[in-house]
Amino acid sequence: MDKDILKNQTIEGVNYYSIGDFRRLIKTGNYFIDYEHNKLNFNIFEESFIFILNSNFVTSKGRICNLKYPVIQNEQDFLLPYTFFTDILVQFIPGKFSFDEKQDILYTERPVDNRISRIVIDPGHGGKDPGALGKKSYEKDIVLEISQKLKKSIEKEFDVDVLITRNDDTFLTLQERTQFANENQADLFISLHCNAAQNRKSKGVEVFILSTAKTTDARAVEALENSVVIEYEGGKEAVKAYDDLQFILADLQQSEQLEESSDLAVRLQTELIRKTKSLDRGVKQAGFYVLRGAFMPSVLVELGFITNEEEEKKLLSSKYQNEIVKAITSGIKSFKLKYDYLW
Ligand SMILES: [Zn+2]
Repeated sequence: MDKDILKNQTIEGVNYYSIGDFRRLIKTGNYFIDYEHNKLNFNIFEESFIFILNSNFVTSKGRICNLKYPVIQNEQDFLLPYTFFTDILVQFIPGKFSFDEKQDILYTERPVDNRISRIVIDPGHGGKDPGALGKKSYEKDIVLEISQKLKKSIEKEFDVDVLITRNDDTFLTLQERTQFANENQADLFISLHCNAAQNRKSKGVEVFILSTAKTTDARAVEALENSVVIEYEGGKEAVKAYDDLQFILADLQQSEQLEESSDLAVRLQTELIRKTKSLDRGVKQAGFYVLRGAFMPSVLVELGFITNEEEEKKLLSSKYQNEIVKAITSGIKSFKLKYDYLW
């Protein structure tokens, strides 16, 4: 990151920084004052912050944050308390700023770095949505356990941040999952699931990437995973919302990621089959809602059929879980090796 000194002013023992100085430093941003409503609107990097004048509060993205100190007007300029830089900026505009309070140094805009440094793992379902049902287990519990092991394994193996969409048995909408990945600027999004079928003999492992092209089998899995939206997220209305323009736009943006997604999918599937010796159902394309809206290479892994008694037993065993974890870790590793050096 670039270093810039942001000069402070101490007012009643609190460090303040001028909004004008800050804008000059980052060479962007504008603000205007809404005297009628006693508000200061400050826009930077497509993010807008609304300070309530003479109060300690700022709002952004519908959230209200307490700065602990008020914004102070200083002739034509405004002075923002240090907490805006240390607590709010880094949270709402992740990756672009960091602030060294002791030296009043603002680090801005990280240099272009295409390396894979943050991975989001998404254990499917959760809370009121159990996912597919086995004889003795729920999909939501199995995928959570494996996701937590996977996070540890990846972080041990190489230098990346691994974030997990849910760390306990809570319900998340599909949109919240991809939003989490987007907001955290993840480089990869991996959603873990267990499969289910009417035919209790169905078995094997498969990896999906997003696409509109479908085979009959892919359609079946897609319908199964997407049924969450109908059942738990407010019925047909919710489905319609997912199909709205924003998702079409997301699709367009995502088609750029399609090639990388399918590369990742192939690597994961190859490793999974090699390590688990499960039946190879291949890499497939389907239009999962959960994968739409993610702006990074994204895959959905079906780790085995919970409706197959034998596979359910395997999915619950730590031996099979460890094999899965090892396989996905090395699949990601080989993908990362390739893309980290591709500019
Ligand atoms: Zn699922």
